[in-house]
Amino acid sequence: MTLKRKCKLCQSPFTGRSDKIFCSPGCKAIYHQKLQQVTNTATASIDKILHRNRSILLEIMGKTGVSKKLPKSILDQKRFNYSYITGYHINSQQKTVHYVYDFSWMIFSDQEILIKRLHSS
Ligand SMILES: [Zn+2]
Repeated sequence: MTLKRKCKLCQSPFTGRSDKIFCSPGCKAIYHQKLQQVTNTATASIDKILHRNRSILLEIMGKTGVSKKLPKSILDQKRFNYSYITGYHINSQQKTVHYVYDFSWMIFSDQEILIKRLHSS
């Protein structure tokens, strides 16, 4: 079924399938490029904090470390930002495990943090 439609980007009228929203592949490409740019700009500052957090964990764990307990003060000194995580879950001991990409961290005791590398085999 073809319908008279208006391009979502340039507003030009066109005819096409009912699920078609752009008049041309060019308009479609420009639209998605703009959407991507807006998303990149909006997420850049938080991405930077998350990437930095992961770098700190990687530095501590090295290339192969699987699990490591360390004083929380070490993360504090490196200005680890505890507020930014990629996910979390409550484990069987009712402790919150915080994910930063492929690493996790949890408060182990008052002064200690337990860091783990995920998907290690
Ligand atoms: Zn168009």
